[in-house]
Amino acid sequence: RAKAEGRNGWRFFAAAMDARAREAMQIEAALREGLARGEFLLHYQPQVDLRTGRITGAEALLRWQRSGQTLMGPGRFLPVAEESGLIGPINEWVLGEACRQAVRWREAGLPPIRMGVNLSPIQFRRQDVAAMVLRALAESGMNPAQLDLELTEGILMEQAPETAAVLQTLRTRGVRISVDDFGTGYSSLNYVKNFPIDRLKIDQSFVRGMTTEPNDAAIVRTIVELGHMLRLQVIAEGVETEAQLLQLKAEGCDEVQGFYYSEAVPPADFAELMGHPVAIPRASLAAAARPE
Ligand code: C2E
Ligand code: MG
Ligand code: MG
Ligand code: MG
Repeated sequence: RAKAEGRNGWRFFAAAMDARAREAMQIEAALREGLARGEFLLHYQPQVDLRTGRITGAEALLRWQRSGQTLMGPGRFLPVAEESGLIGPINEWVLGEACRQAVRWREAGLPPIRMGVNLSPIQFRRQDVAAMVLRALAESGMNPAQLDLELTEGILMEQAPETAAVLQTLRTRGVRISVDDFGTGYSSLNYVKNFPIDRLKIDQSFVRGMTTEPNDAAIVRTIVELGHMLRLQVIAEGVETEAQLLQLKAEGCDEVQGFYYSEAVPPADFAELMGHPVAIPRASLAAAARPE
């Protein structure tokens, strides 16, 4: 009896595996098609300077719009893209498009802001990142000083000499480097010392708890102090409430990014946000837009 159940269990497991593999293959084929058809797009989330209240940057976040379907976030398809060879062309498209958008905004007369682009660890293993970035900059005509590459701790932890060389090359051209999701990786501080880094992004998990959990508050405070002692900028991500914003301001954090101000929005909506002299929390924006 136990044996029969075991076999059933195995068969069930095999079927599930099969379904998952099949789904991955379907997504991969669809990704390939989506890339060819231009179904990918970027949404932009504002980064706000806590001293001036101005929008000083945008993070480009990848979206996939398949015809007749709801907009898909990167969590659903990036892992499959990374397992297949498709991540390369997708990454290249993201970088090119973000640079072109920065130039479009500049040509439309918007004040120049930093453009944050996420790079995945896979890229550093498989692609010539320096060449790719320099090509995107040259082809778009974007000012390199406007580009801010977001890397996770994982990329830096690998401590590959090639990575250091890539970052050094880009840094020399004026490109800035941020450490994304800071505090969630291995948090070895070695790389902070060894790599040319400009900014730490406090992970949203710490921000979420900071007004209620003393441990999260302590971690946020420590990251702000560490960053400043190393002469790095510090930005907090995932800021959703005014309480979090005020506490981050009190801690001396430089910038914030999160739903409190805005989620990632299409380029036209972002340009509209830039039209205000200081950033307006989205709750107030919605109230102002609501007809009485
Ligand atoms: P990330 O770089 O840490 O980006 C922040 C994520 O948090 C985004 O999710 C953003 O929409 C979300 N977020 C922003 N503010 C808030 C908030 O106040 N509350 C909450 N709960 N969430 C907030 P998204 O767009 O789903 O992206 C997820 C991850 O996918 C990104 O994390 C990044 O690692 C990766 N990713 C996104 N776009 C790209 C891309 O073009 N290339 C690569 N390689 N990775 C990307
Ligand atoms: Mg990021
Ligand atoms: Mg992040
Ligand atoms: Mg994150």
